[in-house]
Amino acid sequence: MNNYFVILAAGKSKRFQKKIPKQFYIYKNKEIVDHSIEKSVGTKLFKKIIVVTNNIKYFKKKKIHNSVKILKGGKERSDSSLIALKYLKKFKPNNILIHDAARPDFTIKLLKKLLNHLKKNIAVVPYINSKDSIKYKFKKELFNLQRENTYLAQTPQAFKFRKLYELAINEKNKITDEATLFINKNKKIKFIKGENTNVKITFQNDIRVNKTFFGIGFDIHRLKKNKKLYLGGVKIPFHSGLKGHSDGDVILHAITDAILGAIGKKDIGTYFPNTKKFKNIRSPKMLKPIIENLYKSNLSINNLDINLICEQPKVSKYRDKIINSISNLTNLNKDLINLKGKTVEKLGLIGKEKAIACEVVISITKYE
Ligand code: ZN
Repeated sequence: MNNYFVILAAGKSKRFQKKIPKQFYIYKNKEIVDHSIEKSVGTKLFKKIIVVTNNIKYFKKKKIHNSVKILKGGKERSDSSLIALKYLKKFKPNNILIHDAARPDFTIKLLKKLLNHLKKNIAVVPYINSKDSIKYKFKKELFNLQRENTYLAQTPQAFKFRKLYELAINEKNKITDEATLFINKNKKIKFIKGENTNVKITFQNDIRVNKTFFGIGFDIHRLKKNKKLYLGGVKIPFHSGLKGHSDGDVILHAITDAILGAIGKKDIGTYFPNTKKFKNIRSPKMLKPIIENLYKSNLSINNLDINLICEQPKVSKYRDKIINSISNLTNLNKDLINLKGKTVEKLGLIGKEKAIACEVVISITKYE
């Protein structure tokens, strides 16, 4: 495995009409560029992943996997691509995949297919046919192009490193993808069927949204001496823990119920009844399968708003830890999780520190 993956994320996104660069816009729970990074890291197919960007500051606050290298980009896409190739030369790569960060929806299946075809080819490029009729203007004349003979080239595109390097270093013109280098020099490209869902996000309305749902979750558990206290999946030092069939984690239970509420799938007790099987179950184990099913159905969480209702412990002391934990469990960007602490003026069960309650509101969107 001597494969390297390059993600080009240096575009200026002039057509996107948002203040932040497109690559950092939140799409399906995370910044657009993170989709490509996480997928390429997750496959373990690549020795190194190179991200070329002109927005290094956006990466400073991210936790970056140690196989990922961030490089400062150039003026044009082709400059950024060349910067990555020059950096990688010393590693003597066999295979290289070049990808535009603006396509977050490629599949791992496609990556494997590209690498497979690269065994017998020097350049492998995924394409789809146009759905629109294409006219081509040459000098002052217009031509009709046959749809079935037109190739819309996508990324990632896969190459033998040495050949690509040689062509790229000698190219004087601006190019919009690496396939162009091969076509300009009449070199053979193996075109393979791309993916209709692997859309390039150029304009803001390329992000197609189907429908948004809301859900509400509430939970309360009594406090009990000599039990460990878990809130949001975090163990909190406290004189008591929460009594219940499980670890009594009110935050995770309320989140689970809010999700189920939003998608109309009853409640947590339906999936995790008070049976022997689930005795003392940790709540992350209950939340996880619900989250996995959610993402499999192309649903994604927009945000979570949480009220933790108790006198003690003080939420402010554990807020970051709890948000981190929820972010890991839900695969949701931390900025989309809000946690508020609420006391009840020492009133009632909660005020006398005999119970802790939690309420959650969630928004979930189904993407096309
Ligand atoms: Zn509960």
